[in-house]
Amino acid sequence: MKVFGQADEALHAPRFFLMRGRLRDNYEVPARAAALREGLARCGLAPEEAPPATRAEVEALHAPDYLDFLATAHAEWAAMPEAGEEVVANIHPSPEMLAQSPCAARHPISRAGRFTADTACPIGPGTFAAAMGAAGCALAAAEAVAQGAAGAAYALCRPPGHHAYAARAGGHCYLNNSALAAQRLRARGAARVAVLDIDSHHGNGTQGLFWERGDVLTVSLHADPARYYPWYVGFPEERGAGPGLGANLNLPLPFGAEDAAWLAGLDQGLAALRAFRPEALVVALGFDASEHEPLAALRVTAEGFARAGAAIGALRLPTAICQEGGYNVDVLGDLLARFLTGFGNAR
Ligand SMILES: [Zn+2]
Repeated sequence: MKVFGQADEALHAPRFFLMRGRLRDNYEVPARAAALREGLARCGLAPEEAPPATRAEVEALHAPDYLDFLATAHAEWAAMPEAGEEVVANIHPSPEMLAQSPCAARHPISRAGRFTADTACPIGPGTFAAAMGAAGCALAAAEAVAQGAAGAAYALCRPPGHHAYAARAGGHCYLNNSALAAQRLRARGAARVAVLDIDSHHGNGTQGLFWERGDVLTVSLHADPARYYPWYVGFPEERGAGPGLGANLNLPLPFGAEDAAWLAGLDQGLAALRAFRPEALVVALGFDASEHEPLAALRVTAEGFARAGAAIGALRLPTAICQEGGYNVDVLGDLLARFLTGFGNAR
């Protein structure tokens, strides 16, 4: 298996995080990548340095004005008097505003509100470079798989990506790495590509990007959004639209679900995936379903992740695995090693 990482990851060290009205330390930290590298080392794997994504590569899915915003947001923000150290929006255009005005956003504050969904995606001086680097890792993994250089490849993406839409950051995510990998696999000839998201949060950005497309199946296994981020989407009724109708499957699980329920949900997702007959697969791999997560929405064990790896590996599809969430740095390395070992043994 080829694995890809990037040095610019460490340039993104977000601090702002708001939970239930309380300011907390942000937990999407560079130490996560160090823990994941340890897990790779345990499998005898060392990441190759991936080149950062180019502007043209990310424009395959992201809007030019949004990319302009990400590239310039921090410098513009820092030039304001009494600016905080990171870009964090304090207003978003509401549907009522948008119905009455195009809301041309030219000020750093209005631009931040227009292009971010929440307060969990602070932008610092190194955020854009790190996000382009993470996207580069995902694209390198997809390329290795598409060219047959590897049957499977892993991208150590940090920041993660599955909450990012075409023109909106949110939930620690800026560029949708998994979706960019899927798009690259399509561009390299796979007629149908599936994205299987096992992060504990619904992959709302990925769902949004492929909502009206029938060539990319999106499956997300996650904790019930009625009680959990992203709150407004991730329910079973959301099936896609137009040519994409039926090509989106949400599998929310009750809070506290353990291995048996999580793996049964995964089986449901894999059945839908087999019926779609994809020629390539992207796994959006989060470890925040772990029983050791700070928020502990789900209670999956290390053995559960090994079994998930085995079930996904047994599909024997060309597979690009993109890292998403997982925030307990004490267990991340072990969970990655267990998942990849299960995956590799099943192929
Ligand atoms: Zn997550």
